[in-house]
Amino acid sequence: MSIDVTDQGKVNLLDFDRQGLRDFFAQLGEKPYRAEQVMKWIYHHLESDFGNMTDVGKALRAKLEEACYIGPPNTLLDKAAIDGTHKWLLGMDGGNAVETVYIPEPTRGTLCVSSQVGCGLNCSFCSTATQGFNRNLSTAEIIGQVWVAARHLGNVPHQQRRITNVVMMGMGEPLLNFDNVVAAMSLMRDDLGFGLASKRVTLSTAGLVPMIDKLSAVSDVSLAVSLHAANDELRTELVPLNKRYPIAELAAACERYIARKPRTHITFEYTLMKGVNDQPEHARQLIKFMRRLPGHNKVNLIPFNPFPGTRFERSGPDAIHDFQTQLLSANVLTMLRRTRGDDIDAACGQLKGQVLDRTRRQAEFRKRLEDGVNHAA
Ligand code: SAH
Repeated sequence: MSIDVTDQGKVNLLDFDRQGLRDFFAQLGEKPYRAEQVMKWIYHHLESDFGNMTDVGKALRAKLEEACYIGPPNTLLDKAAIDGTHKWLLGMDGGNAVETVYIPEPTRGTLCVSSQVGCGLNCSFCSTATQGFNRNLSTAEIIGQVWVAARHLGNVPHQQRRITNVVMMGMGEPLLNFDNVVAAMSLMRDDLGFGLASKRVTLSTAGLVPMIDKLSAVSDVSLAVSLHAANDELRTELVPLNKRYPIAELAAACERYIARKPRTHITFEYTLMKGVNDQPEHARQLIKFMRRLPGHNKVNLIPFNPFPGTRFERSGPDAIHDFQTQLLSANVLTMLRRTRGDDIDAACGQLKGQVLDRTRRQAEFRKRLEDGVNHAA
């Protein structure tokens, strides 16, 4: 876990999961229950000022002020769409910014959280790719997105929650920022954190095979895999990572994941692009892929969301309908994701944020990927 330390040498408490916070309090010579008391203030009461933590003694409050702070990201922009979707542009250290989106539905409220500033995977149909990659977000910057959104939305504990689900489907590839994402997801699920059930926290990956195995060993969050095509030639065009981890290897990793967690299922995301991957033959390939997998998995169809400069178009309503019908007739559980918040560019693949100094880092990132650092990570 990377710990954010300010110029004054203070530690950001949002960087710690529960164990990390207990260890930090131990270093301060404080009992673990004190850490838990403070954790409740941070995540249940969304308090960032030690001075307001009324059941924490004065001496300890003073000690905390000296040693640490509670530092959520800055809200640079707060936009609401006509359909109730909300988008925040959040400022991160170093002049970077990421976007976080809230999507209210009648029975739930989903927060879409970013894991990196930009993204290095270069998927050809995603606008985040056009920005390149800058850096991983810290644990504080990831959980801080939930904290800020909860505070804006008035997430009151023990009442009806506004945020019922979190999906790691914002900017970035979460499995390339493994430790910080796992720590942040642990805070999302911790009773003293945001208290969400594991199945209500979803990590979405473009298919980093070794990291899928690593994830299943340490966490039982829900898994979503961005497939977009079930033949290697087309998938490599859409998701270049497929060259390194082709479909057969990805399918094998999915099988291992399901075998390890018998009651879970995987959601496969499939963005529908006109004339590219929306034809009956593509549906047939997808059906074949889904049938090979054990368990009851699900396909999530996402109509492509356009952005300036893209060569792709959204599939027409008939093509989308026919594609879904073909899958359903083959007994593949298939949902169609309604496009939300597109009047504020908050839909999937439209998130941009602000990415500085990307060229050098992009080159570094590519090199790391080629060197296979991710195998070892
Ligand atoms: N890197 C992760 C998570 C980020 S993207 C992943 O690849 O899963 C979240 C989802 O939005 C992915 O399924 C992604 O493929 C999809 N997406 C990206 N650009 C899109 C676009 N322009 N229209 C619709 N969906 C898009």
